[in-house]
Amino acid sequence: MRKKKAFLVVVTAGVLLFGGYFAAKQAGLIHTSPQLEEPPKLAEGLEEGSGNSGGELEGDAPGAGNSGEISVPDEPGGEEGGNGAGNGGGADKPEKDPTEKPSKGDKPGEGEGISRGENGAIAVIAQPASVTALVNPYNKLPEDYEPDDLDYPNVKFIFSDKVEKRMLREEAARALEKLFSGAEADGIYLAGVSAYRSHATQTKLFDRYVKRDGYEKARTYSALPGTSEHETGLAIDVTSSDGSCAAADCFGDTEEAAWLAANAVKFGFIVRYPEGKDKITGYQYEPWHLRYVGDDLAEELASGGLTLEEYYNAVPVAK
Ligand SMILES: [Zn+2]
Repeated sequence: MRKKKAFLVVVTAGVLLFGGYFAAKQAGLIHTSPQLEEPPKLAEGLEEGSGNSGGELEGDAPGAGNSGEISVPDEPGGEEGGNGAGNGGGADKPEKDPTEKPSKGDKPGEGEGISRGENGAIAVIAQPASVTALVNPYNKLPEDYEPDDLDYPNVKFIFSDKVEKRMLREEAARALEKLFSGAEADGIYLAGVSAYRSHATQTKLFDRYVKRDGYEKARTYSALPGTSEHETGLAIDVTSSDGSCAAADCFGDTEEAAWLAANAVKFGFIVRYPEGKDKITGYQYEPWHLRYVGDDLAEELASGGLTLEEYYNAVPVAK
């Protein structure tokens, strides 16, 4: 009897406690998990895409392979000499005969800073304003780099505000306008999702993730400030005009993605993170992320089936 009473008391207390907890939670007084407090809000407007599901977390989660960890390649980086066309680079790089590359004397990008420091250290890009610059987890833009010719391309976006992420550098903006009208001529209707992102914005974003998840975790799904191509003003995420698969894997199955894969090159753009090259670029397939590199280089990359990393003979980002 006594036992039963005690049991009842315990059960009642339990019910009360649980009820109270539930009510408090409903009232927003209790947060059960840190993620719920602040869902990853990708630089305004880039939708939730949070890391998984390919949502380019602001366009730039280096998410190669495994958990997206950026693995430091085992080779002691050699010094890639900072010269993309460089012959003879470090002995231990993914070998690619430099002479294989069609060499136009004035090949765009020649002399670009593509070196990676010792043991996979991050190098600072020597010519950040070059439209052919290689920006990746190992090649970052200088702290103070800011493109000086940003402009608003006259194309549809999935939002209407005239904000930072609607801008591209002038040359890329004009090329994008041509790309969009070229698409329309083929019955393909596109919309911009997110283009330029300032260093300050990327920094703010990254800091927010670090605060929430810690540095190590954050860098597995968000680009370190300075290493996002969006900071160049030469990259843009696009989607179909209804905006339905913005920066999401499902975009890969659309006719818009197919059109881009086949035609972006005609306008000086490349699909920067192609399928099956994630170990080299450090990024999972992102059919929506276009990078302007200019007509000549786009052509050359497309005809050779090369990523920028391969073109520059840079060490793969992840292995
Ligand atoms: Zn992107």
